[in-house]
Amino acid sequence: MRRFDLRSLRFPDEDETWRSVPVEVAPFVFGGLEYVVPGGVVELELHAARVGDRLTLTASLATELDGPCQRCLEAARVHVVARGLDSVLRGDSEVGDEDGGDVYTSAYSVDVERWARDLIAAALPVQLLCRDDCAGLCPVCGADLNAEPGHRHDSVGSEDERAGGDAGSARGGGGEGEGA
Ligand SMILES: [Zn+2]
Ligand SMILES: [Zn+2]
Repeated sequence: MRRFDLRSLRFPDEDETWRSVPVEVAPFVFGGLEYVVPGGVVELELHAARVGDRLTLTASLATELDGPCQRCLEAARVHVVARGLDSVLRGDSEVGDEDGGDVYTSAYSVDVERWARDLIAAALPVQLLCRDDCAGLCPVCGADLNAEPGHRHDSVGSEDERAGGDAGSARGGGGEGEGA
């Protein structure tokens, strides 16, 4: 489902109601790496509370995001729990562009696809890791440091220091050749 029609909601007796809708979530790409929700679909729980012409929509979801660990590239799974609110007055989101808010509802139609996607994106940790203390890969040879905790290269440190980077290239700067 990409859009949800608020007019399909039924409020039999009370002023609130619930609906669970399956929403397709396209893969996320971070730094060239792809992350997907299982099956490409998230169950978005919509709760609607009605007061007069105003509906307060609460969207919540709980899912996983699967993709490569950003440190070691092994499979990582991040648990995502997110919740958002949308205040809808006579069929339209009340937040305007001037508020910097995102408009998810217009003409009684809720853009559940974009809403779910934004909720997931906002709930993600800064780094997607296989585990919090992932040791990553050896910067020299690419070995998996989780599998080889004692891995190191004895000669590397001293060689790096002696090489001294590209000292000398900073000398001169601009202006040479112009003479003036
Ligand atoms: Zn990792
Ligand atoms: Zn190494």
